[in-house]
Amino acid sequence: MRGCVIHLASGNRHKAREMQRLADETPASARLGLRIEPAAAMPPVEEDTGTFEGNARKKAAALQAALPPDAWVLADDSGVCVDALGGAPGVESAYYAGPQGDPAANLRKLAEVMRGVPDGQRAARFVCVLLLRGPGGVERVFEGRCEGVLGHEPRGGRGFGYDPLFVPAGFDCTYAELEEPAKNAISHRGRAWAQLALWLAAAP
Ligand code: IMP
Repeated sequence: MRGCVIHLASGNRHKAREMQRLADETPASARLGLRIEPAAAMPPVEEDTGTFEGNARKKAAALQAALPPDAWVLADDSGVCVDALGGAPGVESAYYAGPQGDPAANLRKLAEVMRGVPDGQRAARFVCVLLLRGPGGVERVFEGRCEGVLGHEPRGGRGFGYDPLFVPAGFDCTYAELEEPAKNAISHRGRAWAQLALWLAAAP
C-alpha cells in the first residue's frame, strides 16, 4: 500500500482535507505515504438507503465505476444523531434544511429545532462510516463515533457543517473551537480512520 492513491468518493473539500491530514498524522498510515485524491467529478448519488453504510457503498460504487478496475476508492458517509430528535438528522444530515444541501441552513435549523431543549436532554453523537474498496472485490467497512451534547448557540470558526454546535464528551468547547489535529484525535472520522489505517498497514 506504500505510496497508494486513494480516490475519495466525495465532493466535500472539508472531508478531503481532514482525511489527508488523518492519513499523514495517524502513525499506522503516516509511514505509507498515502495520497487522498478528492473525486474530480463525483457522479451524482441519491443517498436513499437509510443507513450510513448503505449510502457509503453507493458512493464508493459510483466512483469506482468511473475509475480503472485496480483503483482504491474510499467513501465517507457521516452525520450527527440527536437523541431528543429520535436520531435525526442522522443519515439526512447533509440535507436537513432542504435538498439544496446548504450547511449554514442545516446548522441554523438544528440550533432552532433544539431551542428550549434543556441541558440533560441534548445528547448527540457524530457517526462516520468509511467504506474502502480495492482491486479484486476487496471491501472493508470501518465505523467511528464521538459522543457529546449540542450547545445552545453555534460557537467557533473552524471545521465545517454542524461543528459549531457539537460539544464532544469531556470538553467545554465545540468541534469548531478545536484545532484540526485535536478534533481529528477524538472525532468520529478520526476513530474510523484509525481502524482503517491499521488495516492498510497490515495489507500486503
Ligand atoms: P454526507 O456524508 O456527505 O451525506 O454528509 C454528511 C453531513 O454530515 C455533512 O454535510 C455535514 O453536515 C455533517 N457532518 C459529517 N461530518 C461532520 C463533521 O466532522 N463535522 C460537522 N458536520 C459533519
